[in-house]
Amino acid sequence: MRPKSNKNKSKVSISTIIDQCIVISKAPLYRKLNMPILPRYCNFSVTYLCNHKCYMCEIWRKKEHNDLSLNEIKKIFSDKSLRKLRMIRLTGGEPFIRNDIVDIVKIIKSKTNVDLIAISTNGLLSNKIIDSVKQILNLGVKLEIKISLEGNEKTHDKVRGIKGAYKKAMETLIGLKKLKSKQYFYVGVNQTITRHNEDQINYIYDLSKNHGCGYHPALAIAPRPVYTKGTGVNEGLLNPEKFALYDDFNIEEIKKFLNLFKEKRFDRDKTQSKGLGIAYIHQLIWDFYHKGFYNRLVYQKEDPTVTCMTLFTRFRIEPNGDIAVCSYKPQVIGNLKQKSFTKIWCGKTASRFRKVVKNCPGCWGGCEVQPDLAYSPKIIKYAITKILS
Ligand code: SF4
Ligand code: SF4
Repeated sequence: MRPKSNKNKSKVSISTIIDQCIVISKAPLYRKLNMPILPRYCNFSVTYLCNHKCYMCEIWRKKEHNDLSLNEIKKIFSDKSLRKLRMIRLTGGEPFIRNDIVDIVKIIKSKTNVDLIAISTNGLLSNKIIDSVKQILNLGVKLEIKISLEGNEKTHDKVRGIKGAYKKAMETLIGLKKLKSKQYFYVGVNQTITRHNEDQINYIYDLSKNHGCGYHPALAIAPRPVYTKGTGVNEGLLNPEKFALYDDFNIEEIKKFLNLFKEKRFDRDKTQSKGLGIAYIHQLIWDFYHKGFYNRLVYQKEDPTVTCMTLFTRFRIEPNGDIAVCSYKPQVIGNLKQKSFTKIWCGKTASRFRKVVKNCPGCWGGCEVQPDLAYSPKIIKYAITKILS
């Protein structure tokens, strides 16, 4: 039998496409009626423990940790209201600090309809990460791993506050690239630009290209309340519509960075994103998101906007089981250690906060906006133009 080509491996499954079309057509009506729909996307922070001390992040300063146990996670994902989940992003903190990350993936795979799992890592625990990813791939899961790299060794270690962090991240990246997978497996490099590494874009771009990885640059944005809660540092960015960067770059600098990101992203992705595969869809989403980022920062113009679907088709689980409204609104609609997902999702508090979401002036934080782009008619128009061009 001929092995599956990379192109086939990266195809979105037919059932996901059909399901996505159904949700896109009915979700806006449910939203209008303030009714819950079975969620398709979940952002699950498995722990806020972290072994880095990044300059632009407050998460590692969080003092209280009461992470969900594996049994509690099993109970959560066995809830019938989560059976339609299609994508889950496992974040932190550093997700691989948990010794049961493979078991968490096993549970998600066996209890839901998840077609794609994405995990972000700082790459410090090289052997553990490579071994865990190998086991996850053996489960037959479509997987995306993104490793953070901020620049050359000196810059990376300085930004990340850990000596030796660069060497470990590189060890992880090289090890992951050697893994074989029967299904879609994507390794990308995240780079967050601040004053400390603004001169390192080309370095990380070349590095990711030379190692056959995707390149995902972003300008650091101001900390959000969910991530500053309990750090004793500050209250985070409370007005989501006042889109703000972490550093005080001027307009000319912002333009230069964003144009460079676009040029590098397109160059990097054009070889990986042929056909209607996952990488191609991600490229479309990134391009559209980038346009909104550019308009907001350079022209102070809120265009395009998207319909926010938090608490409708998507939700986030905090490490202690709280379901927060979003990263800008840390209000909790319920705790999964105390109540089942169905009870929380269909309860009065969720209904009250859905109204808050509907009245929200909007934000442009990547992890909030990108999963919602599918519900924007503008991106569909944009995608059709791209496919036909
Ligand atoms: S950015 Fe990530 S790796 Fe760095 S301290 Fe925050 S959670 Fe940890
Ligand atoms: S638009 Fe949605 S995700 Fe963004 S701040 Fe408002 S409620 Fe939160």
